[in-house]
Amino acid sequence: MRRVIVKVFALIFLLSFKAAFAAQHVGDWTLYKLEGRDYVTLANVSEFYGATGVQRPGGSNFLIRAGSRSLRGATNSVEFFINGLKFNLSYPIVEHDGHLCISRMDLTKVVEPVMRPGKIKGAEKVDTVVLDAGHGGHDNGAWSPFGQEKLYSLDVVFRTKKLLEQIGMKVVLTRKTDVFIPLHDRAAIANRYDNAIFISVHFNSGGAGTGLETYTLAPRGVPSMMADGPRISDLEHCRGNNRDAENMALATATHAALVVRSQLHDRGIKRARFVVIRDIEIPGVLIEGGFLSNSNDAKFIHSPEYRQQMAVSIVTAVNNYRRAVKVQAPTEVASRAPAVPRVHLSPPPAMESSSEAVEPTVRTSIPN
Ligand SMILES: [Zn+2]
Repeated sequence: MRRVIVKVFALIFLLSFKAAFAAQHVGDWTLYKLEGRDYVTLANVSEFYGATGVQRPGGSNFLIRAGSRSLRGATNSVEFFINGLKFNLSYPIVEHDGHLCISRMDLTKVVEPVMRPGKIKGAEKVDTVVLDAGHGGHDNGAWSPFGQEKLYSLDVVFRTKKLLEQIGMKVVLTRKTDVFIPLHDRAAIANRYDNAIFISVHFNSGGAGTGLETYTLAPRGVPSMMADGPRISDLEHCRGNNRDAENMALATATHAALVVRSQLHDRGIKRARFVVIRDIEIPGVLIEGGFLSNSNDAKFIHSPEYRQQMAVSIVTAVNNYRRAVKVQAPTEVASRAPAVPRVHLSPPPAMESSSEAVEPTVRTSIPN
């Protein structure tokens, strides 16, 4: 009897094991269910973006090249580089059955809007920038012996405002003085404007931290990188999630412009649910322009040159974002296409029904 029970359990285990790792085909994409999440192979991704394949230069590293564009990372790591810019994926790259795999969430919410911002559905032209200086009034934010976050952030938004107005942009400030404005009021101010984007400026503090990071809203179901782990509230759809793709394109433009001019460590693009990026209806990001708790960062932040450099970077970011979403993405891949037609894949398997069908128009949908 005991032996029968063991056999039955073994069978159940094997069946569930098989179901857990079975590949599912959706359009041209092969999905693997791993740890309860959908993954696609990087070989599939490479093919889709017209690359020649997944290279393994050594160790756990991989590289995918498509013309001048590239995807780079390592197995079991969330650090992921798209065209040389550092992102923190929501889930690590995994190796399964000899295939390197990326989560479907990261493919659709990170890779696709960055690789093809011109394909973002519903992206609007931008003529207004809402600049949000973090903290204010009794809320000093972070501090160093040289000064307070609330004053540095206000200085950066004033510098940015001046530069943006010089190129004909409309600028709205959530605060113009050293005054406390509740977070929900800041989001409400942003929500009064159409054809606008929102950029919140902060400086960081804590531990041995150093460097720059850019936050954008975590997609529904993805834990905040500021939290200890998943929370029930991660499953809620926030207003800002209507702009997931634009948020990521804006974060990319912003972070790229900041790190290219900065001498500070690059901490990459991250996910969070800060109120000001969660409750807005326009695309938005939150910049952490260095750590006031780090003496080297604090010296930079205290220098007017560094804050002016941040302002110049934000203007570059606004321009690059407008260009990226307004116009079709550069046809880099097409112009370098080999004589033999590349394999056509339908768009990345959608996370939500809002995903756009692009050529070739094989429709894919994922049963919920
Ligand atoms: Zn802050």
